[in-house]
Amino acid sequence: MTARRDYAVARRRMVDEQLRRAGVTDRVVLKAMEAVPRHLFVPRMLWHRAYEPCALPIGHGQTISKPFTVGLMSALLEVQPGERILEIGSGSGYQAAVLAEMGAVVHTVERVGPLAERAASSLAKLGCDRVTVATGDGSFGAADRGPWHGIIVTACAPGLPEAMARQLEDGGRLLIPIEHEGDQILYRYRREGERLSVERSVGCQFVPLLPGVEEAGLA
Ligand code: SAH
Repeated sequence: MTARRDYAVARRRMVDEQLRRAGVTDRVVLKAMEAVPRHLFVPRMLWHRAYEPCALPIGHGQTISKPFTVGLMSALLEVQPGERILEIGSGSGYQAAVLAEMGAVVHTVERVGPLAERAASSLAKLGCDRVTVATGDGSFGAADRGPWHGIIVTACAPGLPEAMARQLEDGGRLLIPIEHEGDQILYRYRREGERLSVERSVGCQFVPLLPGVEEAGLA
C-alpha cells in the first residue's frame, strides 16, 4: 500500500509539473491543489493513478477532470474568500473541494444520484463543510439559491445558458465550456451591471451537459 506521504509527494510533483510549469501560477490555486487529496475522489483501484496528467473514470460514464483543467478553471473563476460559488456537474466532488479549500462557499449540483452521494461522502470524510451537494438538473443553474459570485460548469453546453447568466452577482463570473461545430471552447462571462462581457479561454474536452434525470427518463 502506498503511504500518505507518497501521495503528498505525488501531489507536489503534480502541482509543479502539470500546473505551475503549464502556466497555472495563481498561488491560492496551487496551494489548494497541493492540499486536497485527489486520490480520495477516484475509485480505490485508481488511487495509484490519481496524480497522473489525465482525466480518470469515476463510474456512470463520467470522469474526474485532469489536474490542469481543474487548476485552470479554479484560477479563471477568480475566487475571493467567502464568495458563493455554484458548480454544475459535481462528478467526484474534487473541483468543489479545491474551490472550498480556496475559501469559497460552494453549492454543487449533479444529475447522477449515486455520483452526488459519493461526492458528498468524500467531501464529508475530508471535513469539507463549506460544500453542499444536491442531486438534480443544473442546466438552468440554481436560481432559488442565487445570486452567485461565480458559476462553474464542468460539462459542455450547446450554448450560453441565459438563465445562469441572470443568476450572477454584479461582477460575477460564469465559466462554461461551449461546443461549436464539434470543438469545445472554455468561455468566461462576467456580469458588469446590466452588461455581460465574454472572454474566450482555451480548447477543452468535457462530457456533455445533459438534461436532468427525470427529463432523461432515468429516474
Ligand atoms: N467537476 C467534476 C467533474 C465533472 S464531470 C469533478 O471534479 O470530478 C461532469 C459531470 O456533470 C458528470 O458527473 C455529469 O453527470 C454531470 N452533469 C451533466 N449534465 C448535468 C446537468 N444537467 N446537471 C447536473 N450535472 C450534470
